[in-house]
Amino acid sequence: MRGCVNPYETASARLSPLASPPTRHQLRLAAGVAALLLVALAATTPYARQPTEGTEALLPAYAAAVFVIELLTSALLMALFHVQRSRAMLLLAVGYLFSGVMVVPWVLAFPGAFDALTGGGATQSTAAIGAIRRLSFPLFVIAYAVLADRELPPAAAYRAILFSIAGVVTAVALAAWLIVAHDDVLPRLMIDARKVSGLWRFVPAAAITLYAVGLIALGLRRRSMLDIWLMVVLFTLLIELVLLSYVSAGTRLSVGWWAGRLYGLASASLVLLVLLSEATTVHARLARSVLAERRARQNRLTAMEALSASIAHEVNQPLATMVTNASAGLRWLKHEQPRIEEATAALGRIVAEGHRASKVVASIRTMFLKGAQERVPLDLNGLIEAVLAQCQDEARLGRVSVSTGLERDLPPVIGNPAQLRQVVANLVENAVDAMRGTARPRLLQVTSRRHAVSEVVVAVADSGTGLPPVDRERMFEPFFTTKPDGMGMGLMFCRAAIEAHGGRLWASDNTPHGAVFQFSLPASAAMPEATGPEAGGPVR
Ligand code: ADP
Repeated sequence: MRGCVNPYETASARLSPLASPPTRHQLRLAAGVAALLLVALAATTPYARQPTEGTEALLPAYAAAVFVIELLTSALLMALFHVQRSRAMLLLAVGYLFSGVMVVPWVLAFPGAFDALTGGGATQSTAAIGAIRRLSFPLFVIAYAVLADRELPPAAAYRAILFSIAGVVTAVALAAWLIVAHDDVLPRLMIDARKVSGLWRFVPAAAITLYAVGLIALGLRRRSMLDIWLMVVLFTLLIELVLLSYVSAGTRLSVGWWAGRLYGLASASLVLLVLLSEATTVHARLARSVLAERRARQNRLTAMEALSASIAHEVNQPLATMVTNASAGLRWLKHEQPRIEEATAALGRIVAEGHRASKVVASIRTMFLKGAQERVPLDLNGLIEAVLAQCQDEARLGRVSVSTGLERDLPPVIGNPAQLRQVVANLVENAVDAMRGTARPRLLQVTSRRHAVSEVVVAVADSGTGLPPVDRERMFEPFFTTKPDGMGMGLMFCRAAIEAHGGRLWASDNTPHGAVFQFSLPASAAMPEATGPEAGGPVR
């Protein structure tokens, strides 16, 4: 897997603010934190050498805080490594783990902290452990900075984490045992329990050099936000060391020494805070993208449901007519004297309805299959008249007076005859439905007109109940219906068909009563002479 793109890494880099290049805001924040530390250093300097009494009791609390913070940081970095599998990230996690675990023997051996438990007497051990801890951490950071982001194969990542943890714990236990057991042969870094010897000065000098190298390495790399915060960490550690070793003249438990420890704690927390805020941001981003995905899925499902319900809606009617005619046909044939003529007529109607159903299915298919639409030049006036002729019976039954106002010489439109017939039929049917319960004169008017130069507008107006008192756009959503037997598919279908023809469909109030549904379609520039516009028969 070496050298190839890791999809997890690419995805996590996209999601992870930590892996992304630092923004100006983050750079300013990091510079602000560093400046604040410098101010704190200046404020501490006058009191730095002042000794404190009985503060050994605070050491376990301090060590526990460092231990927990560094272990948590290491755990989060290991989790990042598990996803990104970058060796540099693993090294950094190991650095934090090593530093965190080393705090345990450091505080246990600290003179006066756990003497009752350890027997005391080891004056050099804490300084030796502290020196190893202080010098090793910047080495891990430097290794992180200079190591190219090579990645391990997926199976190796888990093993690498286990080996690293086991290795660190073993190394720390072994080193601590060797140091504490051989306290008397260790280099004399301390004069007594509180004062450092002249030999100690090599430790801060070496550490400061390493911090400087680390800062340069990170500064040259400066690829991500993590790099910037690691620079602040090294800077904080540098200030801690200046306080511990120079400003407080290496006197343990002095004000300067404790202040340095507090800065150390702040530095230990920095990366943890950045990692935690990163985890929260990533979580929020994930939650947002999951929601968006869920919404998209829901929309897809609704579209599927809409499609199937639309098919059911449109096909159901011819099927019902077929069943009625088939039963009637059977009855005619079962007569003592079979009435062949009537039965033949019923069978004829069945055949006609069968054709109608298959036309509906074909039209729905063409509506949803992109690029498969059959388009011809159409005479909209002829199409409207054909639909109204088909709806004559229904209108008569509903006691609706139908009138038309069709503009002569209307330019043709290019469209799918089955779909556009169905649109007009749906609008007429809705208008008739809306007038069903009114005591007022039931007036249905269908008009057509040319609008501007390039558009044709058809309006279907009624004197019915008027538009339902909801957001007008809701009527066009699938399944919105106010009718007990309605499916709420008609208007959705009409709008989709009209928009597929490059037009618009909208609804408004009619005066004094009722509603007007209008649609516009682009007019065809030229009418082909050979074929001529098609009026076509109504779909229903
Ligand atoms: P359906 O006819 O199955 O209810 P539609 O999508 O065709 O489905 O219509 C949705 C709803 O829009 C209707 O239930 C009705 O409330 C409203 N509507 C449609 N046309 C009219 C109209 N001409 N007058 C008043 N309301 C209408």
